[in-house]
Amino acid sequence: MKSYRLVSFSTLCICLLVLFISPFQDTSSASTDKYQNFKQLSQHEFSASYKVTTKETKSPVLIFAPHGGGIEGGTSEIAKELVKQNALYLFESLKSKGSRDLHLTSTHFDEPTARKMVSKYDNVLSLHGYSGNEKHIFVGGTDRERAKKLTQLLNQNGFPAELITKGHDEIAGINPGNIANKNRTGKSIQLEISQPLRSAMFHSFSLKGRASSKTQTFYRFTNVLSTFVSTSY
Ligand SMILES: [Zn+2]
Repeated sequence: MKSYRLVSFSTLCICLLVLFISPFQDTSSASTDKYQNFKQLSQHEFSASYKVTTKETKSPVLIFAPHGGGIEGGTSEIAKELVKQNALYLFESLKSKGSRDLHLTSTHFDEPTARKMVSKYDNVLSLHGYSGNEKHIFVGGTDRERAKKLTQLLNQNGFPAELITKGHDEIAGINPGNIANKNRTGKSIQLEISQPLRSAMFHSFSLKGRASSKTQTFYRFTNVLSTFVSTSY
């Protein structure tokens, strides 16, 4: 009887833990990533299954989307919209299935072009997606002042945003090992956009459908980010 109770209690604890953690999960973390660094990834994946896009400008901000394409849907399209005025680094999975395999968590993300580019810029604004159950954005990163300002701006424009500080390491984006923080000043903002909100930005949320089916929500959201970047740095 005792051991039965113990097993039930343990099961309950595990279930509660999973319930608590899962809504905050980025697509995956280092422990669930298939590859632990870019070298491993490039040795096992066809080079045609992913794509790196960059744009260099004198902008003080680098827009950084390391989980684009099929990995964290919608982050590519947002990044490309913002590139009109900023520098860009974008890593995309082009695979129709199994894009999750190409997720390298930010503390393990060491694609050579990314490392080189990040080190040249004063600030990084990184774009990510997490699962979530409602339209929501976590605003993390080491640049606390600007992160707070962006959180307010998003909320004022009807996008539920929450400034996150501690815990949920992947989401908070404050780990010095996070590639976004390896820029010249160490200052970054990390946006984690929930799946329901990213879905609302497109009429068709498929890999091929997104680019040509942007909604008003997409343009309102990217407008808030563009305004923030052009007035905050
Ligand atoms: Zn991500």
